[in-house]
Amino acid sequence: MRRDLGFERSYYAATAHAFKLAPPLEGETESDVVVIGGGYTGLHAALNAAECGFKVVLLEAERIGWGASGRNGGQMIPGWRKGAAELVKRYGEAHAKTLFGLALESRSLTLERIAKHNIDCDLTTNGHLTLAAKPADLSWMDAEAETLERRMAYPNARVLDANEARAKVAADGVFGGLLDECGGHLHPLNYALGLANAAGRAGVTLHEHSRVVSVEHQRHVTARTERGVVRARFGVLGCDALIGHLAPRIAGRIMPVANYLVATEPLSEPARIIADGLAVSDSRFVVDYFRLSAEGRLIFGGGERYTPDPPVDFAAFVRPFLQRTFPQLRGARIDYAWGGLVSITMSRLPHIGRLGDLFFAHGYSGQGVLLPALIGKVLTEAMRGTAETFDVLAGLAPPEFPGGAALRSPLHVLGMLWYALRDRL
Ligand SMILES: Cc1cc2nc3c(=O)[nH]c(=O)nc-3n(C[C@H](O)[C@H](O)[C@H](O)COP(=O)(O)OP(=O)(O)OC[C@H]3O[C@@H](n4cnc5c(N)ncnc54)[C@H](O)[C@@H]3O)c2cc1C
Repeated sequence: MRRDLGFERSYYAATAHAFKLAPPLEGETESDVVVIGGGYTGLHAALNAAECGFKVVLLEAERIGWGASGRNGGQMIPGWRKGAAELVKRYGEAHAKTLFGLALESRSLTLERIAKHNIDCDLTTNGHLTLAAKPADLSWMDAEAETLERRMAYPNARVLDANEARAKVAADGVFGGLLDECGGHLHPLNYALGLANAAGRAGVTLHEHSRVVSVEHQRHVTARTERGVVRARFGVLGCDALIGHLAPRIAGRIMPVANYLVATEPLSEPARIIADGLAVSDSRFVVDYFRLSAEGRLIFGGGERYTPDPPVDFAAFVRPFLQRTFPQLRGARIDYAWGGLVSITMSRLPHIGRLGDLFFAHGYSGQGVLLPALIGKVLTEAMRGTAETFDVLAGLAPPEFPGGAALRSPLHVLGMLWYALRDRL
């Protein structure tokens, strides 16, 4: 339970569609592409590569969707973790528009994939609402909505005043919000399993329980598990926060941070808690995020924890944060509680690049439900010799955390504490 942060006891595992275990890799094999990791990044990359005619082998250490992809909040939030106004400040208007356009493309690609492969994942596309946790948030929300409309030509986001926001979400401490009509939510594990089925049908050879223990990438890629080897022209590394010691040169750019979720019992009047089936998060630095499941449970994630050990009781850990937002749910039973590792970067923009013939993408910083559909497409384009968009994404490269892989954690904890304190003040 402690090692896997309760994956098997999650609401998603309990409601997952049946998925036949793929056999572990045995012996030596050759392919055009070897993909390491069976989350959204690996699955989209594998599916794209197979659709383009590559022979693809995917190696997953545990089960498909076992990482962040099978346990996240399921919130589909258009854009990057950095807002449009911040992108303009950082990159100038023209480049910010290119980046924002790519993020919107990732949303379209996600929806296309779900439709094309008939993926049954409780998809809901009624919007995403960011709640203002303090009055001052409304000024950046106004600026963001204006930047989106005027400079990004995106008319789908608008600011709600306190009354409008409270009409959408019966939460305490709400001062308004920013509603993006193109947001939504889905069942994250069933989405991953649907992608894996589509990849299998497209010819990808899947191996579960096949942990890669070493990968060589200077010229072509060789991935070794304890019982097998795959030699390939290209590789894709999609291990995100679970990358461990597989690629120390890039691991220092991402920081794994544990985050915990609960699912309540089905609520008697769920639409009185969250209207319109919205996905919701708040404006705190350490974000609380919530939505309703298909059968009216509240799925709530959040809370701050600054020690490396997981809490003994995940439900007891999350409950105070849930009750801070929804005091009226004090008596609601919590049926499921689990955790996962989010990978964040210093800039909150992902780290995408290549080490020799091994491509990698990770560090979506809590916004990795939509973006991997784009990444899969762009990595396949780069393997086929068109690197224009790949270069744009690689240009986002975040700096290394101070202290590199060894010291990043304690220093980051100090930084997080400071921001959490600022939230409270
Ligand atoms: C608690 C939580 C809540 C989140 N909520 C949201 C949200 O609401 N909205 C949103 O947009 N994003 C959210 N995210 C982020 C999002 O889930 C991730 O960005 C995304 O799933 C990353 O996908 P991935 O495929 O890159 O990594 P993962 O899904 O983590 O997949 C990596 C896979 O690689 C495998 N692996 C690792 N090492 C090896 C190895 N050596 N050999 C073979 N396989 C290996 C792992 O077992 C794992 O299955 C959340 C994340 C967490 C943890």
